[in-house]
This record gives sequence, structure tokens and C-alpha cells, in this order.
Amino acid sequence: MTNAIRPQPGIENIKLYKGGESRLAGHDRVLKLSSNENPLGPPPVAIDAIRSAAESVHLYPSTDHAELRTAIGEINGLDPNRVICGVGSDEVLQMVTQAYAGIGDEVIHTEHGFSLYPVLIHMTGATPICVAEKERVVDVDAVLDAISERTRVILITNPGNPTGTILPNPELTRLVEGVPENVVLVLDGAYTEYAEGFDGGMSHARNRMNVLMTRTFSKIYGLGGLRIGWGYGCQEMIETLTRIRQPFNLSTVQLSAAEAAVRDREWVAACSELNAEQRARLTGAIRQLGISCDESSTNFVLARFTDAVEAAAANAALQENGIIVRAVAGYGFPEGLRITVGDAEQTGRVIAALTRWRETA
Ligand SMILES: *Cc1c(COP(=O)(O)O)cnc(C)c1O
Repeated sequence: MTNAIRPQPGIENIKLYKGGESRLAGHDRVLKLSSNENPLGPPPVAIDAIRSAAESVHLYPSTDHAELRTAIGEINGLDPNRVICGVGSDEVLQMVTQAYAGIGDEVIHTEHGFSLYPVLIHMTGATPICVAEKERVVDVDAVLDAISERTRVILITNPGNPTGTILPNPELTRLVEGVPENVVLVLDGAYTEYAEGFDGGMSHARNRMNVLMTRTFSKIYGLGGLRIGWGYGCQEMIETLTRIRQPFNLSTVQLSAAEAAVRDREWVAACSELNAEQRARLTGAIRQLGISCDESSTNFVLARFTDAVEAAAANAALQENGIIVRAVAGYGFPEGLRITVGDAEQTGRVIAALTRWRETA
């Protein structure tokens, strides 16, 4: 028997996305610092909302997400009609690439951008154009230079993952102003709440017809397992994305939990404060051990060792201590380990393990 069926162009080019590991053989008290999850877990108000929502799961969920969009609008000072909610921000990123790019088009992303982007671009049949970064920061000139007649969408992670770096606001403005009006610029702000003095690109999305900001409940809101994210753009773009959004993409449980979480401002304040403290401590300790580490605007740091061999040795030492971090060779950093910032005790474990490794190596 021969197989005559063929997937659409692009699909065979997709390399499967790899998530962070969560298991280590021989360890039962594993500390998972590989997926940038919130060490404090989900906010208690969200857990209560999930419990109450469980009572009504025989009913179909809202298709317009009005209550969640209203809450997001109120808290962030946005017009709820310009907000779209998705199954993680991943789905919003998928909707925008699918809506605006296809076979024969080009979609730009940067060297160390989110590893999901090439997957999403190939799904549409478009060609990914990967642009180099400069000293681990998005290079605005290089992105602008890469724009061609065929460019339809540009995907920018800011702050970056796995770099943790952020484009200074004036640079971001220069990027926004340099992108032609017929090209969609997506600002993926998954880590916005951890970046002091940054609005995630909200003001640009407010003022420009071609800018979409994406945000998530997976990081500071501690709801990664529930899969909720959102996007903010001009009303026409949101209406376009809504046409291809599944009408029941978000469950009653997701909608209720996200609404409770977004209204819990104290939670965000407490989590970002803890993160800033422990991030400074971890960054300082890593540098003290002679390992390179940029200033991070996220809830992780990128430790850069001398080379891939040294990074592998440090990774092995962490694993011996039951700590899982992310090896980021696949993101262009064979010499790097991305370490999620945990709470005080967890950060202490990481520092102790790295210090012991340095002393014995
Ligand atoms: C974690 C992350 C997201 C969020 O994805 P969700 O689908 O909302 O869980 C988006 N972009 C980047 C760069 C991320 O690191």
C-alpha cells in the first residue's frame, strides 16, 4: 500500500515543540525551573473560581468572553472590544499568523525569539525569516532591513525568551514606527509584568492599526496548566482574528479562573516583588561565580558558561541536586542554561548547587 495523502505545504517542515522537562530519574523532590512557572502557584481566588465553575460545566461556555474581556479592559484601561482571548497566548499568536500570512509570504522573527514561532509560521505555509540579534537584544535595524515585499507579519518577543533582555522603550518605538502599515507587528509580552516601567507595547497597540500585543495568564498569574492568554489590537484586527477563533475555545473553568486572577492586583504586585528580589540575588550569585548573566526583565535568567561542555557539566551538577533547568542550545545558546527564578528557598538551592559545582570542578 502506498500513501497518496500529503499534508499542506509547510507542515512537513515543522519540528515538534519541546516543553521543559519535569522528571529526573532517582529524584522525588524535583525542583522544576525549566518552564518559567510561578513558584507561588495559582492565586487562591483563581482556585476558588475553578471550584465554583466546576458546578456548571454541563453548560456551554460564553463564546464572546465578554466578562473576561471586560475585566481585562477595566484592569488595564483598555477597550474590551479590542481584546481577544485564546488558549494561551500561543493560540492568539497562531490566529494572527494564520489570518495574515500564507503560502508565498514571509514572516519575520528574531534569532533568539520564542521557539514556537517557526512552528506557527510553517503551519500557514509562509516562510520564516530569522533575523540575527545584537548582543542578545533584538536588533531593530536588522529587523527593519529584513522587511520585503512579501513580509506580512513580524513576531517579536519583548522581553526576550531565553535572553531575558528588553528593548529600551525608544528602540521599541523606532521599530514600531519603521514597520510599514501593511505589515502586522506582534509584540509578545508574556513577561511584561516582570519588566519594570514597560507596558507590554500597549500604547503602540492602542495607537497603531497594525500592532497586536499578546499577553498570558501562564506566567505571573500562575495558570499555565489552564491555558489562557489574550491579545489587544485595533478593532478590525480583533474582528478578523475572531472569525477564525473557535467559538468555544475557552472553557467555563478557564474563563472564570482568568477573570478572578486578573482582578487580583495584589497577587501580581506580590509576585513581581518576590521575583525582582530573587532575580537580583540569583543574577548576583551567578556573576560572582564567574558565569556571564545579562540583566533580566523576566522571571528567568540566562546563565552563559564558557562553552557547551561547561554548560553541560553545570546542568549535570544541578540535576544531581534534583534541579531541572532549560538547556537552550535549540534557541542558539549551546553555552547557556535558562533558569527560572524561584522563591527564596528554591533560589538558595540553585545557588548552593552551582557554588558546590564551581568549588569541585
Ligand atoms: C511562556 C511564553 C508565552 C506564553 O504562552 P501561553 O500559550 O500563554 O502559555 C508566550 N510567549 C513567550 C515568549 C513565552 O515564553
